[in-house]
Amino acid sequence: MSPQDDALRRTALADHYAAQNLAAPAAMDAFWMPFTANRQFRGTPRLLASAEGMYYRDVDGRQILDGTAGLWCCNAGHARPRIVEAVARQVATLDFAPNFQMGSPLPFVLAERLKAIAPRPLDHVFYTNSGSESVDTALKIALAYHRARGEGQRIRLIGRENAYHGVGFGGISVGGLPNNRKWFGPGLPAVDHLRHTLDIGRNAFSRGLPAHGVELAEDLERLVQLHDASTIAAVIIEPISGSAGVILPPPGYLQRIREICDRHGILLIFDEVITGFGRVGEPFAAQRFGVTPDMMTTAKGLTSGCVPMGAVFVSEMIHRAFMQGADSAIDLFHGYTYTGHPLACAAALATLDTYEEEGLFTRALELEAYWQEGLHALRGKPHVIDIRNYGLIGAVELAPQDGAPGARGYQVLERAFRKGLLVRITGDTVALSPPLIVERRHIDDIFSMLGEVLDGL
Ligand code: PLP
Repeated sequence: MSPQDDALRRTALADHYAAQNLAAPAAMDAFWMPFTANRQFRGTPRLLASAEGMYYRDVDGRQILDGTAGLWCCNAGHARPRIVEAVARQVATLDFAPNFQMGSPLPFVLAERLKAIAPRPLDHVFYTNSGSESVDTALKIALAYHRARGEGQRIRLIGRENAYHGVGFGGISVGGLPNNRKWFGPGLPAVDHLRHTLDIGRNAFSRGLPAHGVELAEDLERLVQLHDASTIAAVIIEPISGSAGVILPPPGYLQRIREICDRHGILLIFDEVITGFGRVGEPFAAQRFGVTPDMMTTAKGLTSGCVPMGAVFVSEMIHRAFMQGADSAIDLFHGYTYTGHPLACAAALATLDTYEEEGLFTRALELEAYWQEGLHALRGKPHVIDIRNYGLIGAVELAPQDGAPGARGYQVLERAFRKGLLVRITGDTVALSPPLIVERRHIDDIFSMLGEVLDGL
């Protein structure tokens, strides 16, 4: 960016603060931004000011096409009037209601709606406020379930290398991203990791699911042999990972994991925080892959990102194990002040209406081939070493710069933003996941802008 552009941007930012009666952002350092190189960011801030449909506008009024549904969450697009009105109405009617030993109608209504779109027998819903909380909730339910059945020795949890399950202590323990773990001590005891299924050597530029790697599911059988099944509580897997760089399951992989879990009485948890709510052409990836877990963790698309909310879907079998004691006994000592928050429930109900009325749960399937063609046309651009896709998910992996892993990815993020395109990066992988209201013309724009950015690398 030229010094003049930079000065202009800073003036626009100062104007924005003035319009809001805020102090000028001289240093911008009171807000400690998450997962961000804060000092670098303050040098070239990217600040979004408004959003509608497929587009953001930044504080300078420039239009930015949303290639990532915010952070994989705004599946219905931005500022959809029906959702906006539902939230506004709700805050004026019932702004908050406790859900500890009393309640309000909406969480019950929403749970029935969610049950109706979930795979059977995931018939029960526990609300949280985020994906991280959903993961930690599911892990706790898994441990408590075995204990309730008299198998309290089943405490071992199994995740995968390179997995992302949020930032709670449970999530980082079963997660497999070194930077998210190594700063924070030992995490939960008795955790193991399967290998992940990303194998660029054998599967580079696969279209859809990669052909090779189903045998990696046997890692689970090996861990069972090592520790004995009687010590293992649960396996948690993202059917498709996003934050770890878009890792897809080879055909048959999830089925095989399910079989091994069934054989040994191990619970299977799918972390559907990014795959839930239509991302792969069905309400949940479990349905697209034809594999039903015992629990499903969700968040993000549940409210199309506009109010924080998560939900853990729990099978009838697990739920029943908690309903055995005296009627007067609390069945699960777990919950959040904002569990089933009325604003979140109102947002989720209006979001589900939008998904259903606009056919957004099947849209990813309808557009999959077109999306795939556009994405794979980027093959041959500078530094591109792999391209992966499924549903309305895409990843372009770049060769890392010598001695500076992640630098090339960051360059793409920055230049795409300047061009008017929002992308996600994880390391040197560019990840794409547009709102499900995306049209062909937006898809063309996403790949043409990204292509130009890659050409300039
Ligand atoms: N699980 C998965 C698979 C995710 O992709 C994410 C976030 O990207 C999370 C959990 C954490 O969700 P949150 O950031 O809402 O805590």
